[in-house]
Amino acid sequence: MKPSLNLIGLYFLFVHCAGPSSSSLANDHETIVIGGGLMGSSTAWQLAKQDQAVLLLEKQDSIYQEGSSYGQARIARSNNRGHDMWSYLHNTAVAETQILVDYLQGVAPDQGYAIDQIYTTNPVTYVGRQAIYDQLLASLLHQEIDYALALTPEEGQAKFDVQLPQGVLMQREYNPLSGTLNPQQLIRYLHRALLYQGQAIRYNTGVENISFNTQLDRYVVHTTDSQTGEKQRLYAKNIVSAAGPYTGRLLKDVAPYFAQLIQPQRVFLAFL
Ligand SMILES: Cc1cc2nc3c(=O)[nH]c(=O)nc-3n(C[C@H](O)[C@H](O)[C@H](O)COP(=O)(O)OP(=O)(O)OC[C@H]3O[C@@H](n4cnc5c(N)ncnc54)[C@H](O)[C@@H]3O)c2cc1C
Repeated sequence: MKPSLNLIGLYFLFVHCAGPSSSSLANDHETIVIGGGLMGSSTAWQLAKQDQAVLLLEKQDSIYQEGSSYGQARIARSNNRGHDMWSYLHNTAVAETQILVDYLQGVAPDQGYAIDQIYTTNPVTYVGRQAIYDQLLASLLHQEIDYALALTPEEGQAKFDVQLPQGVLMQREYNPLSGTLNPQQLIRYLHRALLYQGQAIRYNTGVENISFNTQLDRYVVHTTDSQTGEKQRLYAKNIVSAAGPYTGRLLKDVAPYFAQLIQPQRVFLAFL
């Protein structure tokens, strides 16, 4: 059936009255993530996995050279004792990283993606007084991770080449992928996965400030290209600010309370 003139008129009325869509507003994005360090890159990847269209903005070049995530190693450990928060976080992160690696291996099998390029196994050592001996042995009954235990100075010398004082015991355990994390490698993996997934990353793009346009119902992200100096306005329904210590400053016009909420003002993420 051909649409009647009235229906066509209604359609145009609807289009003109409806809020902005990606077709009516140039540079409109579902979600803009600011900052391509560990936090921003991981968040962009998690959103992409949930089928969100993401634009990641990073003021540095594609080679990460400064910021909290710079370097080859960070302590990232779990143990087999109890269910402490750090072990939970580490184990969750390892499981998530495995999903990332599996994805990359699936799309680019010949590129050598492997989780042990990101996590390195290092032993975790516990030293305690003999008073915790019973408690320790009870917990080790359920220990699935390989461990070595020294209960006397002689055993300390023989097993660990360490001079243990009398009355002190030492346990060392070898939890696979618990030890250190290579943040730069993880960032590289995350960016590659985002690009394979069809998401967008803009390097050399520094965000100057963010405002909110109530008429458009969009955040307006003002950027400067660090190489050409070109300024641009980008629009987004959602913003994730993961600019490390600069996050609070970036949000001063849209979420002025943020800087006061988090003390000390170190590294944090903000979802708007
Ligand atoms: C020396 C050191 C040792 C550490 N050791 C450990 C450890 O052993 N274990 C551990 O768990 N944690 C450790 N940390 C902390 C951990 O590294 C950080 O928590 C983590 O890397 C923070 O990541 P991030 O993405 O929040 O910040 P960053 O890595 O700083 O990322 C922020 C990104 O935002 C970009 N950016 C900033 N402003 C803008 C803007 N206006 N526009 C666009 N982009 C912008 C920056 O260029 C940067 O890439 C350590 C940190 C340091 C510095």
